[in-house]
Amino acid sequence: MSINEIRSQFPILDRSVNGRPLVYLDNTATSQTPRRVVEAIDDMYFAHKANVHRGVFALSQEATDLQEASREHVRKFLNARSTAEIIFTRGTTEALNLVASSFGGSTLRDGDEIILTVMEHHANIVPWQLLQSRINFKIKVVTINERGELDLDQYRSLFTDRTRLVSVTHVSNVLGTVNPIREIVDIAHSRGVRVVVDGAQAVPHLAVDVQALDADFYAFSSHKMYGPTGIGVLYGKEQLLENMPPYQGGGEMIGKVTFEKTTFAELPFKFEAGTPDFVGIAALAQALDFIADTSYELIASHEHELLQYTTARMLEIPGMRIYGTAPDKAAVISFLVDGCHHYDVGMLLDQLGVAVRTGHHCAEPLMNYLGIEGTVRASFAVYNTLAEADAFIAALNRVVAMLR
Ligand code: PMP
Repeated sequence: MSINEIRSQFPILDRSVNGRPLVYLDNTATSQTPRRVVEAIDDMYFAHKANVHRGVFALSQEATDLQEASREHVRKFLNARSTAEIIFTRGTTEALNLVASSFGGSTLRDGDEIILTVMEHHANIVPWQLLQSRINFKIKVVTINERGELDLDQYRSLFTDRTRLVSVTHVSNVLGTVNPIREIVDIAHSRGVRVVVDGAQAVPHLAVDVQALDADFYAFSSHKMYGPTGIGVLYGKEQLLENMPPYQGGGEMIGKVTFEKTTFAELPFKFEAGTPDFVGIAALAQALDFIADTSYELIASHEHELLQYTTARMLEIPGMRIYGTAPDKAAVISFLVDGCHHYDVGMLLDQLGVAVRTGHHCAEPLMNYLGIEGTVRASFAVYNTLAEADAFIAALNRVVAMLR
């Protein structure tokens, strides 16, 4: 499939912004959505809408079947063993809060320790801090080298006999670094420690096999991987999920309710209280099909070409500093240009039609570690073109000339 054929599936890419053709380079924050996903949402509303799991009537059964077909799709996508291991959430954030509250809350004890990394998104920091108000455990932090790669020797040295959990991002949303999850998991498992993986920035770019990674939990968001907003996935090993208490209470997650005692539903429904976003869940299947039809081979090779090309052109600009230079890196480029405030760069690029993100990217501890306030971040998806990379570089040169 050509990149133009891929682009033609995304109507928004044809629009202009501030009188210029849109160059959308904020894919790390959210990707755009192909027509087939939006059509699936339409189809759910126009043809199949009824509440799931409740009705004996045909329409409700159809909606339920579409939701559950999507769960099976996600199971295959991640190569999970069973659909009991696939829990639908509102996104990565809710998935990580679920793990912290339910798994962390039921397994951690006062005096225990968990390990995070300095490159975590706030979504993989704050839920653990909230839990610290209930349990007095310690958070230890893995640092990075000058390329933005985790220091695995230092990681190994953080383990003690009180270490209970590691929670780590698969791909950094600032540095682009692809972390060696299998190695990180093996090191933890050899000490009997469980591993949670934040996959929000991985699934848009690379094939994930949860059995090959041997991750105990794996979380991601649909809206960053061409799917609808408002839903995400938590994968968890069945035996762990089985032993965890529910995260929220309500309809759908119960077996039998009396005022004296309530029993809970089987997996995965035990963790899905209330009416789920069954419309978005059904449409997520189309995003997975879009990725399968496009293929991760093409996504990875095209994004790698965009990354290499754009990085080389950016480094021609005097005073350019790129944060995150790992050889194994997703197409995310965080940068600063000497003499230019990141916010001004972003605002002026927008005037020229180029959408990039500025600021701390919900990774303030990483910014503190790097000794900066924020960066400008350009991030690519499979529908971006080398011509857009050129337009970005031309706009960036103009902006830098203006600001200096
Ligand atoms: N983790 C990482 C690495 C992310 O990049 C993001 C989104 N920026 C999140 C978690 C949170 O995802 P969401 O807002 O979709 O829950």
